[in-house]
Amino acid sequence: MAKETVLRCSLCNRDKKEAKILIAGINGHVCDNCITQAYNLIKEETTGDQKQQIQHSLTLLKPNAIKAKLDEYVIGQDDAKKVLSVAVYNHFKRISHVVKDDKDEIEIDKSNVILVGETGTGKTLLARTIARMLNVPFCIADATVLTEAGYVGEDVESILTRLLQAADYDVTAAEKGIVFIDELDKIARKSDNPSITRDVSGEGVQQAMLKLLEGTVVNVPPQGGRKHPDAKMIQVNTKNILFICGGAFDGIEKKIASRLNTQAVGYSASVTNEKIDRANLLQYISPQDLKAFGLIPELIGRLPVLTYLKPLDKSALRRILTEPKNALIKQYVHLFKMEGTKLEFEEEVLDLVVNKAIEFKLGARGLRGICEAIMTDIMYSLPSDEKQPKLFTVSLEYALDKLKSAKLNHLSVA
Ligand code: ADP
Repeated sequence: MAKETVLRCSLCNRDKKEAKILIAGINGHVCDNCITQAYNLIKEETTGDQKQQIQHSLTLLKPNAIKAKLDEYVIGQDDAKKVLSVAVYNHFKRISHVVKDDKDEIEIDKSNVILVGETGTGKTLLARTIARMLNVPFCIADATVLTEAGYVGEDVESILTRLLQAADYDVTAAEKGIVFIDELDKIARKSDNPSITRDVSGEGVQQAMLKLLEGTVVNVPPQGGRKHPDAKMIQVNTKNILFICGGAFDGIEKKIASRLNTQAVGYSASVTNEKIDRANLLQYISPQDLKAFGLIPELIGRLPVLTYLKPLDKSALRRILTEPKNALIKQYVHLFKMEGTKLEFEEEVLDLVVNKAIEFKLGARGLRGICEAIMTDIMYSLPSDEKQPKLFTVSLEYALDKLKSAKLNHLSVA
């Protein structure tokens, strides 16, 4: 009589009756219990790895290394890069300190940042590059759509919904992320005096942001908004989230100038009139000017690192076209290479693109639209061209011709 073989898990020796599922392999079996345990072990190890990875990259990157990385993607803006590199370095030093939980050590304040500069000068690009470099979740929020809780518009917490989405709902990762809040100037209150009537989209939002910036546990609706009232809230602690705010603060130069003038006349003048570089007043920006512009002192206090971005001149725009790691021209060359064609641009074409961007007052943001206007026709016809050229040179004549037929006016800003 043949001996009955009892199937057993090759790892824990449980027999088939004791296990819910027994999966057969080539030389053995494994039970559901062992699979679950193994899965949990792997999960624990890999999240531990991720945490370590973050810590690792953070301890490795010194401020000068952070700046060098930023240089690869962002042209100019040295002052902003320096200030930002130090802020980010200190912020993550602070996080590792929190992790150590040494009670005797001095607590380092959070170093949220505010970047002031015209639109299209690289504020978002700086924040995005830092997040990518540190490999932490990153999201962009627009301050203009935010309103005080309970009013039409998005609640301030919606910012964190986006961060959670960027982190794939990994709360631990999101809690070390970076949030870029754009257009902060648009929530300035309308006058320097505290408002008498309720200002739900300006001062009200500023008030609502205070706790978030400082560090608090926020109940975040996973899908955003209040449309899903039964959705389970996710708790996110904002203590270690780095907030970088940006804004153009149109007209703030006047506030800076008037402050500098009174200072220069006043008794404790530190910057004399002769030394003031009137063409670039933004470099003297101070928290007082933000207050004069309409940010409440409590908010300014929670954004202790203040720096500025310069308007981009012709030479900066020219460099932006070709120098950054993912420069526009490099991207076109790469696209054509994939088609088997070498792409070249005459130098004059690049000057033309820059001049047009300045003419239409588009700054760096306009470079792409102008290039597209020049390149669309050839990108349309080249892939189906029977005798694909080995080399295609964009000449000044070709570019001028394409720009003439393109309706560039829609690109211009009034
Ligand atoms: P904003 O200051 O309004 O946040 P962005 O950072 O979004 O401006 O810039 C818009 C685009 O212009 C970027 O995607 C980038 O391609 C380009 N750009 C702007 N400033 C720079 C810069 N200093 N260096 C390189 N590219 C830049």
